[in-house]
Amino acid sequence: MSPAARTRPEHSDTQRDELEPARSRPSFHPRGWALWQRPKRTVAFLLAMELVTLVGLGAAIANAPPPNVADWLRCAILAGGATIHIQLTHRQEERRRNRTRTVLIDLTAVWVFPAAIILPIPLALLVVGLVRVQRWFIARRPAHNFVFSSVTHGAAAALAHLTFGALGSPSGSATIGIDALWEFLAFIVAGLVYEAVQVAYIGGILALGAASAPTVRNVLGSKADNLLEAVTIGLGAVTAILVVTVPPAVGIMAVVTVVFNRLAEIDQLQNDVRTDSKTGVYNMRGWSERAERALARAGRSGNSVALLMLDLDHFKWINDTFGHPAGDDVLIMVAQALGEVTRPSDVIGRFGGEEFLVLLPDTDQDTVITAAERVRQAIGELAINTTDKRGSQTVITGRTASIGVAVYPDHADTLDSLMHAADRAVYVAKEAGRNRVSLAADGRKSTNPTEHRGTTSR
Ligand code: GH3
Ligand code: MG
Ligand code: MG
Repeated sequence: MSPAARTRPEHSDTQRDELEPARSRPSFHPRGWALWQRPKRTVAFLLAMELVTLVGLGAAIANAPPPNVADWLRCAILAGGATIHIQLTHRQEERRRNRTRTVLIDLTAVWVFPAAIILPIPLALLVVGLVRVQRWFIARRPAHNFVFSSVTHGAAAALAHLTFGALGSPSGSATIGIDALWEFLAFIVAGLVYEAVQVAYIGGILALGAASAPTVRNVLGSKADNLLEAVTIGLGAVTAILVVTVPPAVGIMAVVTVVFNRLAEIDQLQNDVRTDSKTGVYNMRGWSERAERALARAGRSGNSVALLMLDLDHFKWINDTFGHPAGDDVLIMVAQALGEVTRPSDVIGRFGGEEFLVLLPDTDQDTVITAAERVRQAIGELAINTTDKRGSQTVITGRTASIGVAVYPDHADTLDSLMHAADRAVYVAKEAGRNRVSLAADGRKSTNPTEHRGTTSR
C-alpha cells in the first residue's frame, strides 16, 4: 500500500472544505471565472445548492427571533475566540492546507458549532461569515469553491441549530440529572447533523466533479480525519456550555484551540516523514516499517511474502533527452501505475532515484511472477504526458523496467537479506537484457516479452 494512493496523507480542521487547488490567479470578471471550466453538472449542482441554501437561510433569518443583549454578547465572545484562533494559527493552517489533498476539516468549528447551537440563526451566520472572511486570505482556491464551502458551513450551522432547537433543549437550562443527559444527546445529534450536511454538500461536488467515482474515503476522509472532526465538534460543545455558564472561561478554549490546531498538524507531519514527496508512495522509512511488520506477521502465520525490486531501464536517457522535470513525471506515473496494478494490502515504496519496492503479503513464488509481469506490462503501456527541455508538450512511451523478485522465507528470512536477494535479481535481469522479471536465489524463473516464463536467467 502506498501512503498517497491508499492511505493518503490527507487531513482536516472541523468543517469540511472541498479542496481543489487554485491553478491560476482568480479572475474578477464573471466570464473568466474558473467555475465555468468545471463539468456542467458540477456547475448546475453548485448553483442549485447555493440557491436553495440561500433561500432557506433567508427564510430562517426572517423567522428568527430578534437577538437580545445576551445573544450579542455571546456572539462577540465566539467571534473573538474564532479570530484569535485564526490569527494565531495562520502560518500553520497554510501549511496544513497546502498538504491536504482531499477533504480538509476546518478546526474553526470549535467556534462555529457553539454559535450554531446557542445563538439565533442570524448571529450564528454572522460568526460563520466572520470566520470565512478571515479564511479567504489563506484559502488559495478558486472563488467559487470558497463561496460554495461558505454556503455549506452556513447550511450546516443553520440545520444544526434547528436540530438542537427541535430536540427541545434550550441551551444552558439543563444542569443535572435527566435534563443534562438529554442536552448531551441533543449535542451529539446536532453534531452529527452539522457533519452530515457538510459531507452531503462536499460529497456531491466530489462525486460530480471527479473523472472516476470518488471513494468513500475521499468523501468521508480518513479515520484520523473523522476523529479530528469529532474532537473538534466535542470541543465546540464544551465551548457552547462555557459561553452560557462561565463566559470568561472561554479564554481557556482559545488557548486550547490554538494548541489543538498545532497538534492537528502532527498527524500530517508523521505522514510526511514516511512519504516520498515526489511520488507520494512510502519513502524508505515508511516502507521499511510496514515491511518489517508484514514479515513479522508472516513469520507468525507461516505465510510467504514476496518482494519486487524495480529499476527503470535507461532512466538517465530520459533526463538527458527530455530534462529532469520529464524524468520526474515518469517517476510519478510509474508510482501511480504501481498503485493501480497491485492490491491494497501491497506496500509500495521508493527505494532510491528510479528504483521502487513492492512488498506483497501472502504471496508465494508462483503468484508473484504473475504480479511482477503485470507491473512490467503496466509500465510498458504508460503514455506519460510531459514537457521536453524546451518546455513543449511531449509524450513519453515505451518505458521498461527490470524487476528482481525474492520471496520470504524461500530466499531469505530477514527484510535486509530479502532486499539483497531482490537486488541481485535486478542485476541478473539487467545483464540478461533488461525489461524482464528475474527470480532470486535458485532462479527458477525469468521472463521477458519474447521469452516464456520459466526460462532460466542465471
Ligand atoms: P539502467 O538501465 O542500467 O538502470 O540505466 P539507468 O540510466 O536507469 O541507470 P543509472 O543508475 O545510470 O541512472 C539513474 C538516473 O536516475 C540517474 C539519476 O540522475 C536519475 N535520477 C535519480 N533520481 C531522480 C529523480 O528524482 N528525478 C529524476 N528526473 N532523475 C533522477
Ligand atoms: Mg538504478
Ligand atoms: Mg535504472
